[in-house]
Amino acid sequence: MRITEKLTVKKQLISFEVFPPKTDSAFDSIERSVRELAAFNPDFMSVTYGAGGGTSKYTVKIASLLKNKLDTTALAHLTCASTTKADITRMLDTLKSENIDNILALRGDLPENFSERQGDYYTYASELVSEIKNYGYFDVGAACYPEGHPESNGLDEDISHLKIKTDCGADFLITQLFYDNEVFFSFMDKIRGRGISVPVFAGIMPITNIKQIDRIISLSGTKLPAEVTAFLSKYRDNPEDLKKAGLDFAVKQISELCENSVEGVHIYTMNKPEVAETILRQFPRC
Ligand SMILES: Cc1cc2nc3c(=O)[nH]c(=O)nc-3n(C[C@H](O)[C@H](O)[C@H](O)COP(=O)(O)OP(=O)(O)OC[C@H]3O[C@@H](n4cnc5c(N)ncnc54)[C@H](O)[C@@H]3O)c2cc1C
Repeated sequence: MRITEKLTVKKQLISFEVFPPKTDSAFDSIERSVRELAAFNPDFMSVTYGAGGGTSKYTVKIASLLKNKLDTTALAHLTCASTTKADITRMLDTLKSENIDNILALRGDLPENFSERQGDYYTYASELVSEIKNYGYFDVGAACYPEGHPESNGLDEDISHLKIKTDCGADFLITQLFYDNEVFFSFMDKIRGRGISVPVFAGIMPITNIKQIDRIISLSGTKLPAEVTAFLSKYRDNPEDLKKAGLDFAVKQISELCENSVEGVHIYTMNKPEVAETILRQFPRC
């Protein structure tokens, strides 16, 4: 079922994000994780697209596994920063031939040391959204940033660019991770006020280890509520208790979002079935 169809039958969706392998040898273990995650019966599962595009075949393989073997709605990510316009068209043909009918249209980032691009590329995700909509067949989602995209000159400007993406036809949005629900609620008020009316799924990344959260903070400067800073400093040298506190916090965050009528919760599972299990056990569904 398409994501837009799911939205007509359910008020709040729950979805998981997985990343594909980078090599053939890693495929089997990732396939096992994906199968375990799909067994929790989320409304859809999204599969990331490696920066640089070199591993795109694995994105298609995992999305196809979900859709055609595991009877799970699949959302394939697709980035245009490092994929030429001609290769984008070929990718759309491939995804359609695999019956994958939902795409998350992204600009992506050029990997460090990426050699000079040769060929014709889209500059912004909005152009990719338009291209996929013109192609037909697919439901199209796009990314949004409750704290503003790091390259933009502030949230207001970023929301103007987001409006271009939805005007180009994005059917739904998935947010960048955030830990402060007030940031999300304020973002929702702002975008609704600016005429962006498509469903928005809240991206939740449960904190499971200190390296991961240190990296997130250094890359994006995500705002952390006092409760999170407190357990991070308390359990910095205690991985088990840190993971437990991180998962408890994610459950609390999701509960509050669902009580406040969020249209969907998208869990960045990092291919860890135990993360999804812990969250769903304590808090079965939105
Ligand atoms: C839910 C989610 C999933 C993701 N999945 C992946 C993935 O699978 N693979 C991957 O490599 N990356 C992924 N990313 C990361 C994403 O590719 C980066 O954040 C990237 O820097 C921006 O992508 P975008 O699609 O938001 O770009 P855009 O919407 O194009 O925005 C990029 C920047 O350009 C600005 N901008 C947009 N339009 C205009 C315009 N017309 N004029 C001037 N400025 C403009 C925006 O304000 C923003 O600062 C994901 C991000 C999210 C939130």
